[in-house]
Amino acid sequence: MRVVVKIGTSTLTHATGRINIRRVESLCRVLSDLKNAGNEIILVSSGAIGMGVGKLMLSNKPEDIPTKQAAAAVGQCELMYVYDNEFAKYNHNVAQILITGNDVENPQNLLNFQNTVNRLLEFGVLPVINENDSVSTDEIAIGDNDALGAIVASHVGAQRLIILSDIDGLYDKNPSVYPDAKLIKEVSEITPEITLMAGGKGTSLGTGGMVTKLHAAQIAMDAGVEMIIANGRNPEVLYDISEGKQVGTLFKRK
Ligand code: ADP
Repeated sequence: MRVVVKIGTSTLTHATGRINIRRVESLCRVLSDLKNAGNEIILVSSGAIGMGVGKLMLSNKPEDIPTKQAAAAVGQCELMYVYDNEFAKYNHNVAQILITGNDVENPQNLLNFQNTVNRLLEFGVLPVINENDSVSTDEIAIGDNDALGAIVASHVGAQRLIILSDIDGLYDKNPSVYPDAKLIKEVSEITPEITLMAGGKGTSLGTGGMVTKLHAAQIAMDAGVEMIIANGRNPEVLYDISEGKQVGTLFKRK
């Protein structure tokens, strides 16, 4: 099975912006094992800006574009260094691909992107994809990695997109505000009622909250890709998903 796994900043890093070592070690071990079992895995990883913030010892997440883009450039190296080391433990090679919205809109760029991903997968390499935040502008940005995950999944012929977040899935209202919120297990259509559940932005380090995840679900479902939102707290949840167990929120393919 060809699977895109998107991992959010709030799952990869501590609140300090520094990498959550235990989490990342576990994620890379499980992904390596799923690759060993014959799955083709593509990782869409956030975390570059957060890690850059930690490495540069900035006190806050930067607001201005040059500092954000500088933090992304520093953090992207750190991120790939960590992935390279972790996957090397299990004899897997990683590759970095950084793209912007331009690259999926321009047919030639898109074709080159698809060809590269396909060749990497043939080589058994694990592509790690992120938005090229250091050159991106509002006009050309895909904007958030939930959408990036869905766009990648729909263009590389993936069967499934898994979004690992800091929450178990989509709830009927924001669970950080309403303790009685209930988990929605399955969504077959993004109705206005579902959109209303998403509320506003998520954590201070994460960016999208549920709004961007529903947008991603729409892109994925339209392309015939199923999407699952699951809690990345314990990456072993990926085994359950691969064994067909009911986990998190499933957005069914059309
Ligand atoms: P990530 O970094 O994984 O993309 P975000 O912090 O951007 O994570 O988004 C997840 C957060 O969205 C949750 O922790 C929660 O606070 C918030 N949220 C808002 N509304 C909902 C909802 N209806 N169901 C689940 N989470 C919600």
